[in-house]
Amino acid sequence: MGSVQIVTTILAAAITAVAVWLAVRAVMKMVAVVRLGQPAPERFADKGARTKKMLVETAGHTRMFKWGVVGAAHWFVMVAFVVLSLLVLEAYFEVVSTTAGLPVIGHWTVFGLATEWIGILGLVGIVVLMAIRLRNRPTRPGGKSRFTGSTMWQGYFVEWVVLLVLIFGFLIRGFKVATDHFEYPAWATPLSHAVGNALPAWEAGVSVAALIKITISMTWLIVISLNVTMGVAWHRFLAFPNIFFKRDPAKPAGSGLGPLRPMTSEGKPLDFEEADPEKDQFGVAQVEQFTWKGLLDFSTCTECGRCQSQCPAWNTGKPLSPKLLVLSLRDHAYAKAPYLLAGGGKDLTGEEKATAAQLAHVDVLALAEAEKPLIGTAEEGGVIDPDVLWSCTTCGACVEQCPVDIEHVDHIVDMRRYQVLIESSFPSEAGVMLRNLENKGNPWGAPQNTREDWTKGLGFEVPRVGEVEDFEYLFWVGCAGAFEDRAKKTTRAVATLLNEAGVKFAILGEGETCSGDPARRIGNEFVFQMLAQQNVETLNEAFEGREKSKRKIVATCPHCFNTLGNEYGQLGGEFEVVHHTQLLAHLVSTGKLTPVQPVDGGVTYHDPCYLGRHNRVFTPPREVLGSSIEGEVTEMPRNSERSFCCGAGGARMWMEEKIGKRINVDRVEEAMSTGAKTIAVGCPFCSTMLSDGVNGKGAGEQVEVIDVASVLLRSVKPEPASGEKQPAPAAG
Ligand code: SF4
Ligand code: SF4
Repeated sequence: MGSVQIVTTILAAAITAVAVWLAVRAVMKMVAVVRLGQPAPERFADKGARTKKMLVETAGHTRMFKWGVVGAAHWFVMVAFVVLSLLVLEAYFEVVSTTAGLPVIGHWTVFGLATEWIGILGLVGIVVLMAIRLRNRPTRPGGKSRFTGSTMWQGYFVEWVVLLVLIFGFLIRGFKVATDHFEYPAWATPLSHAVGNALPAWEAGVSVAALIKITISMTWLIVISLNVTMGVAWHRFLAFPNIFFKRDPAKPAGSGLGPLRPMTSEGKPLDFEEADPEKDQFGVAQVEQFTWKGLLDFSTCTECGRCQSQCPAWNTGKPLSPKLLVLSLRDHAYAKAPYLLAGGGKDLTGEEKATAAQLAHVDVLALAEAEKPLIGTAEEGGVIDPDVLWSCTTCGACVEQCPVDIEHVDHIVDMRRYQVLIESSFPSEAGVMLRNLENKGNPWGAPQNTREDWTKGLGFEVPRVGEVEDFEYLFWVGCAGAFEDRAKKTTRAVATLLNEAGVKFAILGEGETCSGDPARRIGNEFVFQMLAQQNVETLNEAFEGREKSKRKIVATCPHCFNTLGNEYGQLGGEFEVVHHTQLLAHLVSTGKLTPVQPVDGGVTYHDPCYLGRHNRVFTPPREVLGSSIEGEVTEMPRNSERSFCCGAGGARMWMEEKIGKRINVDRVEEAMSTGAKTIAVGCPFCSTMLSDGVNGKGAGEQVEVIDVASVLLRSVKPEPASGEKQPAPAAG
């Protein structure tokens, strides 16, 4: 060992010792913070499915590839990071000896070949990612950046480290080539040889370059260890457990977001017949009341901003960005952690749990952080502003896009639950809807005995469950379908088409109440459970004696469709639920319904969030339209899984939209930009929101908003004109 190698070895050992010590400390801190969360025992079930999902999503980059170029570049960088870590290890041998390499595999040409090409592709990948970050930097004039609010220096730092580590990897190899210590042939390692041909035959070059490579790598480790909230770096490790512990791991890819998490206390779902707000946790009021998976979610955020770029609230000037919400919760959790780890925290009655002695040595900043209300305005020092919390439409675009499976919607609803159930704090205009749900069983407060009014004048009998035994489908009409004038036309169209196709169906009539979706999305789990239990009981009775595959329900409202199909299982209701567009597509494809007169073309289709993104029903509505219109459906730029919300989900239908541009107007502008004169929908709420938007633009006479079922009816039964043009109602 020469004098240069003695120096490089000592320096490499010293910086590595410091970095490893800091890293161990950082990991222990992160584990301690995540462990502050509430139990989530269900996350340990299905380990086989979890492992498979984790491997598929990480190795296959299935989520990242939704953004093709970024996904491919990131994949190469990820592979380079994993495989080329071996070359960082090799550098420890190279600081000691210029001729050394990794024991055993370091002498194989295959290893040299693989690492060479992974290094080259990694270089290309990181340059592409750097260019994308620069092109999308928040300070760039014009245009919206998904990186707005991200900690940009951290992103640049991580990318430069990757770039420099790769470059120094080739420099080490180059010096080996130049000094004739390189074992791999030129055909396997062309770039290394090209670099070597340009370098001087400096013997110490290998060890010096190896020391620089180790120094860069360990500086990275030191920096991220001193910044435990640096998700852009830590996600390299945390993405694996975060994906492993994701909700519903057994669900096949592309089967939608799934049910909302039930309200839990101490890891057990709460039953409101027994729940006690003095003993049980109702929603989330303190950051440590999220489950440990929630805290892991916050720690894992890479600050990539994909969620933000798709969020309808953010894109229309509301203060909500799913990314910024996650970052606020993360920063708060880590800032409050010293207080919590010292034994601090409030019990359910708001009393401090720790003694003065326990808190005596806690940093004042952590104590101050602990005093912040989780939900509160800037003046109140709140972590999350109420306007942020209530801007969410629960459209799921953020969850859909997140590459590390963060569950924003569950966290938002958990915080809403506490606000509604304990604080009674929510946009006041939604109070009428909640009162109507409790007292009348529907959000409009319509008398229950008018639920069947839509059946009048149909020209055929609509049977009720109980009057007929042999119905195949229970037609779940929904509150909008029963009480709202525009939606009633869809209900009548669907009933007419089912009757035409000879489908045996029956309705619950006055036995039906609201599915509970708006109550659940606003956070009133109590009212949701009350309504849902009643409906589950009614439905179980209606289907008594039938196996699940014969407990078939067809619903026109995607919110009912989602709640009945995905969430009633949490309360003992297992049904086969289809959306009317699915059933109609089936009836057309099997020849039970025959469109005879194509409706004029110029149709675009708006994917309702709870039908499309949440449940992956993209094709059937398009098939129905395709069979009924002239030409093809003209797609909007944002369609299918990237569809833009109408603004009504998450109980936003019953809240005023006071901030920013109206979401429905944004969507209508997009729809009208296609030139289509018909905007087809598959949801009563979308129908109302988009009609309002069309009217707001003064285009009610030129552009029609209409349900897919009504389009089909016009084509199947052109006479009489039961699907006559529906004038858009006055903007409300
Ligand atoms: S669910 Fe939709 S509205 Fe809510 S934060 Fe996510 S993207 Fe935004
Ligand atoms: S998409 Fe996921 S990882 Fe990216 S910023 Fe949003 S929450 Fe964070």
